[in-house]
Parts: sequence; structure tokens; C-alpha cells
Amino acid sequence: MRNILSLTKEEAEEIITSWGYPRYQASNLFKWLYTKRSRDFSSMTDLPKSLRERLSGEFRIEYPRVLQVSEAKDGTKKYLLSLEDGEAVESVWIPERGHTTFCLSTQVGCRMGCRFCATATMGLRRNLYWWEIVGQVLRLLEGTEGRVNIVLMGMGEPLDNWENVSRAIGILKDWMGFSPRRITLSTVGLLPILRRALEEFPNLRVAVSLNFPDDERRTKFMPVNKKYPVGEIIKTLKELPISRRERATVEYVLFKGLNDSLRDAEALALLLKGTKVKINLIPYNENQAFPWKRPPDEMVEEFASALRRKGYSVFVRYSKGNEIKAACGQLRTSWGKGSQPQGN
Ligand code: SAH
Repeated sequence: MRNILSLTKEEAEEIITSWGYPRYQASNLFKWLYTKRSRDFSSMTDLPKSLRERLSGEFRIEYPRVLQVSEAKDGTKKYLLSLEDGEAVESVWIPERGHTTFCLSTQVGCRMGCRFCATATMGLRRNLYWWEIVGQVLRLLEGTEGRVNIVLMGMGEPLDNWENVSRAIGILKDWMGFSPRRITLSTVGLLPILRRALEEFPNLRVAVSLNFPDDERRTKFMPVNKKYPVGEIIKTLKELPISRRERATVEYVLFKGLNDSLRDAEALALLLKGTKVKINLIPYNENQAFPWKRPPDEMVEEFASALRRKGYSVFVRYSKGNEIKAACGQLRTSWGKGSQPQGN
């Protein structure tokens, strides 16, 4: 039986009208599935009983299954979720002051090949379908109260799967009450698709993972830089309308001895002159796949102060959920497809 969450609105309309019911019943169905998050056709009391019965004879309502939840001392929870073909992804539930942040995956693995990121070591196994991205939200919303923000910063490169990511954002926006301004898309900088994404959702928040202030180092650690180099990224940021620029974030992962000196801070400040972005500094989360180290907190603070003195708005993202390997760049799984579940 097919998962009803895999139907687009148009497909639902087609099926429902072919069964002889009016088109608007598809909207009713979507309201039950996504707005009220109903798990049971029989509870959809404003659909005709015969329609409910037919739907439950042909479809199931299936969220990604929870294989494992690990909870860190700070309350961060990492979910390992299984998909219908046995692949699995990780999503992170992060309690913050006054709201909850969901960190979602957009691909199983990733093909960007960044030489510090655990997900990259898997390669790209497949894209997530849009309903699997929405499914992570449906699953994480269970037991969540209050306001939720979404960051597309889990496994995968969202702009390498834009078709599904954009559909997912559409459902979140149209049916689940998520304004795109509460959704942050983080990218290595696939610039043409980034421009398209902002045309489609002008209020979407974007974060660009710059990480190194020059092409030489950035290319070494982020091979995508050969195609979309630092200068092009800066140019694109400068071309954004000012209101969007103020909302855009530049992410800079700090690696001990690689890009964390005060000279690097100055190079970064100079590079970003005229862009009007916020800077997120992320002290590197060490993982077994790579030898890189996190700088001491004092270095991180000095780096941040140097940028602040130049007038930038800087936020240091001391990662949550580090001990459960839920922090940035640590998400990785190889569940399913003949492989054994393993630690990260
Ligand atoms: N592919 C997207 C989103 C996923 S990665 C992107 O690159 O932006 C989200 C962020 O985590 C990126 O800024 C990335 O540079 C950073 N990151 C990756 N590995 C990390 C690690 N081990 N420690 C800290 N940040 C890491």
C-alpha cells in the first residue's frame, strides 16, 4: 500500500475526482494530513465516510520510523529515522530559549566531498523525496510544543536536491504554518540554484558555508570551490537585495591551525566588506574520520572579537549535542542495504 504522504496535491486531486468526489476534498485531506497531523483516516470527520474507507483501503499514513533516539545532557535529541527502502537519515531536535530548532537532512549522504564532514565520507546514496523531508518534521513535531524553526543543515546538500527541498518547503509553508523566514537553508554555495531558490521563496533564510577566506584553502577542503569560488560567492551575496543580505549568514567552521588565526579573521573581514551578512562561527566538531582539531575556546572568542571590532554581527555556535554526535558535520549513518548499524 502506498504512503499517502507521497502524493502531491495535484495527484490527490486527480485520484479523488476520479473516484467521483469533488476536488476540494483533496484540500480537506491535506489539511488532515499536514495541518492536523492526523494518523488515521477514520478521524477525518469532514470527509465522506465512503471516501475515508476507500482511502484507508488503498493508502497508509507513514512517517519515517524511529530506529534510535539519543539524548544529550543539554536536551538535544538525535533521531535515526528509517525510510521505506531501508536507508536511514539523522534529524536533530534542539531545544533553544523560547523555541525548538529542527535540523533536517535533505539527502542520504552527500556528494560535495568536503574534507572535514562525516556525511561526505558516505558519498551520495540517494536524494530524499520531498515527503521524507516533510516526514522528518511530522515525526519531530510529535511531543514538541511551541514555536519551531527549521535548519536544513543535517545530512546532504539541500541545493543538490532542490526539486524535493523546494516541494518540501512548499508543504511546510502552505499547510503546516512554517513561514520560509523560519527556515534556514545552508549550502556549500551552489550559486545558480541558490538564486533560483530565493526567487521561489524570497523570505527563505540562507546560510553559505564559506569556511575559508581564500580559494587555495577552500578548494583544498571544499572541492566545490573549483566550480563556485570565493569571489563568486561574495559577488552573489552582494547582489542580494539588501533586506535579504541582512538575513543571510556566512558560516565559518574554525579549525585549529588551519583557518583560525587573527590574520584569517582580518582576511575574512576584508573579504566580507560590503556584504552586510551575519557571521556564524562554528568551532569544528571533531570526528574520527579526520585529523582536524577544534581550536581552544579562547582562540574562538578572539577570532569573534576581531570580527566584531570590524563591525560584524558574529554568533559563535557552540554546538549542542556533541556527546551524542549530533553536532554539525557529525551526522552519518550506514543503516540498511546490507550494512550494519554503526556508531558515527
Ligand atoms: N551541505 C550544507 C548543509 C549541511 S552541513 C552546507 O554545507 O552548508 C552544515 C554546516 O556544518 C556547514 O556549514 C558545514 O561546513 C558544517 N560542518 C561540516 N562538518 C563539520 C564539523 N565536523 N564541525 C563543524 N561544522 C561542520
